[in-house]
Amino acid sequence: MLPIRENVLAVQDAIATKLRSLGRDPQDTILVAVTKTHPVEMIDAALKAGITHWGENKVQEAVRKHPFVTEEYGGFHFIGHLQTNKINALLALNPLLIHSVGSLRLAQKLNSTLGRMDRIQDILIQVNVTEEDSKSGADLESARELVLAISRLPFLRIRGLMTIGLMSPDAQRTRPYFQEMKQLFDSLKALDDPAIDMSWLSMGMSDDYLVALEEGANMLRLGSVIFGARDYGGKR
Ligand SMILES: *Cc1c(COP(=O)(O)O)cnc(C)c1O
Repeated sequence: MLPIRENVLAVQDAIATKLRSLGRDPQDTILVAVTKTHPVEMIDAALKAGITHWGENKVQEAVRKHPFVTEEYGGFHFIGHLQTNKINALLALNPLLIHSVGSLRLAQKLNSTLGRMDRIQDILIQVNVTEEDSKSGADLESARELVLAISRLPFLRIRGLMTIGLMSPDAQRTRPYFQEMKQLFDSLKALDDPAIDMSWLSMGMSDDYLVALEEGANMLRLGSVIFGARDYGGKR
């Protein structure tokens, strides 16, 4: 078996086993394969092996690769920091979901561009729950207010929340942050506001996805566990 195929089957199996042990239906969780730095051939290999969603974190890289993906898929996701001058290029790729809306300024720019196109875009609100400076997103205290403000923008449809755990090989250290995210997610869901749809909690990467599932994630973003280590060519 090809390594990517082997990895996809192994990770799908690990996810399904974990979800069943939690009494959850594996069908209700989406795995987004994170293909950054990897060539289109590897994206196609993952899609052939049963991956249905893939995601990139840089608009330029996505623009370069997206047209050459030949296998069918359910959705292309954008998961990285979005610069306002790249909004048009990203929207041209028809992302199913933009995971990384973490400021009102970005949301307003996206909303006005989408308005001119008369188009509605599904988004997640990114929360910097670990409050590390290197990450974008609203901090936990202001996230609620941000969600409420963005919910009033007519061309954006909030579908849930996204976060990135601690960059630590010890996933247990991230668990309390995932718990805080789940609490925020549930409290926003309890508002029962149609403009604040809380369908997706996008959290969990290669080092911490099982913990994320235990804490309520239903959308995972996995790169290295599927494709192996990334080569940034000496720069990041
Ligand atoms: C790179 C990246 C991932 C995947 O990281 P792995 O640790 O390789 O699974 C997930 N989410 C975001 C936002 C990323 O940039």
